[in-house]
This record gives sequence, structure tokens and C-alpha cells, in this order.
Amino acid sequence: MTFRIGQGYDVHRFGPGDHVMLCGVAVPHDQGFVAHSDGDVAIHALCDALLGALALGDIGQHFPDTDAAYKGADSTLLLRHVYGLVCQRGWQLGNADITIIAQAPKVLPYRQQMQQRLAGVMEVDLDRISVKATTTEKLGFEGRKEGVAAQAVVLLQQA
Ligand code: MG
Repeated sequence: MTFRIGQGYDVHRFGPGDHVMLCGVAVPHDQGFVAHSDGDVAIHALCDALLGALALGDIGQHFPDTDAAYKGADSTLLLRHVYGLVCQRGWQLGNADITIIAQAPKVLPYRQQMQQRLAGVMEVDLDRISVKATTTEKLGFEGRKEGVAAQAVVLLQQA
């Protein structure tokens, strides 16, 4: 088999704070994320997609939220670890496509920075990473500004 595909989804709710981490970028906001780690939903969805592509379980198994080691964890480090597992097994990223679903904060101004950050962490070409954003037309929990969701799809190819 030459290719593997994976998808991931994650949600974090807003709580006290002055920024949210999305794709490893601090986006100013009037709230933060309630989470054991830094709450970076986009990276968590991406990690789950990478793990899913190789049937390696999910992010909760690899980094349990009962483990004090991951309290406030920088999610870029989790991504680096997960992509390391992918590479160790002889695979590389074909491409990743991430959608951030948020009524607030506005993601568009940070999109390029997010792509650069993820490409840097995984050490892959910039054009292999897509970051998109959508609102939900004020519907649902994202629309009520209760939190942010993210979806990710990845294609892996044999290195
Ligand atoms: Mg999460």
C-alpha cells in the first residue's frame, strides 16, 4: 500500500484567558481554552488524523489528560512526537487539510502564520499544509461562541 488517509476532530470550550492557541499560534481573544494541555484544537485534530492514518490509536491514549506531564502542554511538542512516530514507521506527509470552525476569534489574519508554524514543526514544505476557517452562521456551540472545533484530514505516503 502506497497511501494512507486519516481524519481527526477536536473541540475545546472557552474559559478565562486572553488568547487561544490555534495551529501553534497565539491568537488574541477575550477568552482562553479550558483544557489539560494548551487546548490547541487544530493541532489535536491533526495529531488524531496522523495517528488514525496508521491505526495508532488517538491523542488521548498517547497523551492522557490524567498525566500531569501534559498539563498546560505545548501542543506543537505533541505534534512533533506524533509526526516522529509516522516517520519512524516509514511514512511521510503527503498533505494535511485543516478546517477551524469558530465564530470567534477571527482566524483569517493568522492563517499564513499557522501554515508556517505547522510546516516548521513537522519540517515539511509549506504547500503540504492547508489551514482553512469557517464560522457556523451563528448556529451551534461554535456559533454561540462557547468554543472552537477543528477537523483535519491527512494523506500519508511511503517515504
Ligand atoms: Mg483536545
